[in-house]
Amino acid sequence: MEARPSDPLDEARSQLRRAIDLLGLDDSTYEVLASPERVLQVKVTVKMDDGSVKTFLAWRSQHNSALGPYKGGVRYHPSVTMNEVIALSMWMTWKNSLAGLPYGGGKGGIRVNPKVMSARELEQLSRKYFEAISDIVGVDRDIPAPDVYTDPQVMAWFLDEYSKVTRGQFFGVVTGKPYELGGLRARVVSTGYGVAVSTREAAKKFLGGIEGKTVAVQGYGNVGYYAAKFLREMGAIVVAVSDSRGGVYMPEGVDPDHALKVKRETGTVANYPGGKKVSTMEVLELPVDILVPAAIEEVITEDNAGRIKAKIISEGANGPTTTKAEKILTEKGVVVLPDILANAGGVIMSHIEWVNNRMGGWITDEEALSKLEQKMVENTRVVIETWEKKLEQGRNNLRDAAYMIAVERVVKAMKLRGWI
Ligand code: GLU
Repeated sequence: MEARPSDPLDEARSQLRRAIDLLGLDDSTYEVLASPERVLQVKVTVKMDDGSVKTFLAWRSQHNSALGPYKGGVRYHPSVTMNEVIALSMWMTWKNSLAGLPYGGGKGGIRVNPKVMSARELEQLSRKYFEAISDIVGVDRDIPAPDVYTDPQVMAWFLDEYSKVTRGQFFGVVTGKPYELGGLRARVVSTGYGVAVSTREAAKKFLGGIEGKTVAVQGYGNVGYYAAKFLREMGAIVVAVSDSRGGVYMPEGVDPDHALKVKRETGTVANYPGGKKVSTMEVLELPVDILVPAAIEEVITEDNAGRIKAKIISEGANGPTTTKAEKILTEKGVVVLPDILANAGGVIMSHIEWVNNRMGGWITDEEALSKLEQKMVENTRVVIETWEKKLEQGRNNLRDAAYMIAVERVVKAMKLRGWI
């Protein structure tokens, strides 16, 4: 994957600035929202299996709590920076607001390459991180969840560590937990499923339906795989998939389950038999109807935006499109389903899990998935409608519409609380 061209926090701030201007709000409101309420940096040391000791930097950023407790995932990635975590926490504020959830925005990160660690090392890292942030998290304070390279097992360690620190059982302190520990089985599919539902709705509106439309997916983790799987079930043809090591292009269609098997067995989907090998960046420029960037930030930039052929870009990842790239895409008439809309399925399902924990376990997976689908359909409709009614097409994009709704709700809550 190429180096990131700019600081994600600059991107997040310029998106906020656009929303503030569109809403006719003043500079002081921008200032209030441009930085987080709190960022905690902690140092985590791990005794490695070979006897050595390694030190990792880690953060939890709490961006805004006007709408409720902070909510957002924790990522383990070798290039995580504090500014990236802050940007991601700001995006969570907007995502949760747009989805109508009673949450503010938070995010955590550890600068680590989890792929080279043993399960025991990862367990120690996870427990020590959660212990270090345990004073600022809580069922009604800040509720972490999975993100890049963290999963239900990591959430189980977080939960257990929290039980030890607090000497209590607070299942709602993290979401995305294993089923046996109060999680919902539907959580693992939820982000990818939400991406597929939002994409299907946009395809109905802009492409005359999802059936037979071609899709390329960049990133084959939890989000990319399930987005591919569900889009195919909905009738689309997934013609290309990629992961951090490379990708495959097959105009006749890739089977998402087989691609996952190939990745598990050989380390990358690029070894999918019979297709043309493409790089993870080339996947973005293939002649497809729909592009799903589902890896990391800032992969669609001013350098490649002009070469993108997709008519719909559905942001499975957080922040994959830079502001400069978005301008080019908007002028070309490409519809970008923004991250805070398209990938909200994960946190929407997290909310259902959290509510379920507080009720003592009650909701079935079928109910949870159908609630998620309804919410994604409705959110997509509202964003498209706001764009059509309140904004200028060709100049403004769906992100502008989504941000207007999201920022306005947070600003109203801050006013009601007397903060501004
Ligand atoms: N990490 C996911 C996101 O970026 C989910 C967060 C959550 O469930 O709290 O939206």
